[in-house]
Amino acid sequence: MNDWFTIDKIDANTYVISEYHHLEETHCYLLNGNERSLLIDTGVGISNIYDEVINLTDKPVTAVATHIHWDHIGGHKYFSDFYVHSAEMDWLNCKFPLPLETVKEMVVDHCALPDDFDINNYELFQGVPTMVLTDKNIIDIGGRQIEVLHTPGHSPGHCCFYEQDRGWLYSGNLIYQGCLDAFYPSTDPLAFMRSLEKVKALAPRKIFPAHHQLDIPASLVEEVSDAFQSLYRQGKLKQGNGVFNFGEFQIHI
Ligand SMILES: [Zn+2]
Ligand SMILES: [Zn+2]
Repeated sequence: MNDWFTIDKIDANTYVISEYHHLEETHCYLLNGNERSLLIDTGVGISNIYDEVINLTDKPVTAVATHIHWDHIGGHKYFSDFYVHSAEMDWLNCKFPLPLETVKEMVVDHCALPDDFDINNYELFQGVPTMVLTDKNIIDIGGRQIEVLHTPGHSPGHCCFYEQDRGWLYSGNLIYQGCLDAFYPSTDPLAFMRSLEKVKALAPRKIFPAHHQLDIPASLVEEVSDAFQSLYRQGKLKQGNGVFNFGEFQIHI
């Protein structure tokens, strides 16, 4: 039994694994290459994503995270081969900036938990990556190359992943329809704005977000970037200023 995950096929070799039963509505992406598969984010860790992934690929799987927040690394424990950006390596080694109790509250918040899930057993994933990522690294999975784009702001080691030949951008928490968060101490609104400029310059043809609505227009990158720039020009892009509403998305700083 498992109706926790919803799986959608993007094309013959690409799947999105979504968790609609949790408020975060996290999306993980499985990219199948000729030699191995890349799993971008592993979800909130409430249900076992590994059991889904092995039905979608017969290749070895490497896991990466757009960033080391609980809702993106929940299933990392199932993958011994995982990469992390250098700026968040410490977060996998006892230095995560939030206490476990706070994370546990977010895990169960507004969530229809499966019967067999016990929050008392929930732990923040800790581990040693098989490779440390830096900006512009290329992950080659065989016939498919994925570029690492360091895009700090939501977190210091946040990365987007980009398939240049398709123009596909896996945007993590940098771009989605919903509330974009840069209000807590480990975030950086100015870096967020610069990361958006960096990604906008690539003119991606398709954006695959980490949360909420899946089918979003590629033009959202420009809209979010313009919104950050307008806040900046007005002198408002400072932490503590609250939530700014732009219709399809909000910016919380
Ligand atoms: Zn996050
Ligand atoms: Zn997130």
